[in-house]
Amino acid sequence: MSPCPICGTDCPADWLTCANCGWDVTPESRLAIAQQPSHLHWGRSLWQRLQRELALTQRFEAIEQRLAQLEHDRLEHDRLSQDESGQISAGISPGISPGISEFDDIYHPLGFHLAQQEWREADAWTWERILEVAGLNRGGWLDGDEIAAFPQGELQTLDELWYAYSEGRFGWSVQAEIWWGSGGDYNQFCDRVHWRSGRTWLYYEELNFARQAPRGHFPVLPWRKRACYGLGGLTAAETLNHWMTRFPPLS
Ligand SMILES: [Zn+2]
Repeated sequence: MSPCPICGTDCPADWLTCANCGWDVTPESRLAIAQQPSHLHWGRSLWQRLQRELALTQRFEAIEQRLAQLEHDRLEHDRLSQDESGQISAGISPGISPGISEFDDIYHPLGFHLAQQEWREADAWTWERILEVAGLNRGGWLDGDEIAAFPQGELQTLDELWYAYSEGRFGWSVQAEIWWGSGGDYNQFCDRVHWRSGRTWLYYEELNFARQAPRGHFPVLPWRKRACYGLGGLTAAETLNHWMTRFPPLS
């Protein structure tokens, strides 16, 4: 029994290929790969990429299920509201669990904008929601401690809605992948999400609000006016770093 050189699964000596990843695990192949480390590296990185894509696909499917459930509950809610319209006035509430109905009430505007691909409205709504949850007034901003203390469930829900409705193009988890892939370099990040064009930092009005806006373009968390201006006492890079720390890199 020895581990597969690609995925690490323990392979009995009589296996020809790894049952997990399909790699050739014969002694001949092991010898050849030992002499060609670049092939081994290529195989491993391909395998890791597949694993990441699989994880993203599974996550996306889970969100789709959740959205379908929400839509189902919403329709059920509407139906019951109509059926029982007479009874509601008599004091009988529609038969829907308060958790889901509350979720729907709160996030419906965001789901609506995202479904219409109204990225500008969705982004504005998201920003106001963040300030509201953080207990800040309109036009405020969050400092590092406030970002660190921002409720995880709220962050995840907002991210999942963005991710699901944009079919994996937008959301903080997408931005985090780009951020960590850029080594936490704000300039590089901005080039990749097109918050900077050439050497020119974009103003908010110059963002791409079209259907095919670049990957990671939204939502906008670390700045509101121009991509090179910070918020409050923090630079845009510092603010983004605080938020991205909430989405640590996949191991
Ligand atoms: Zn394997």
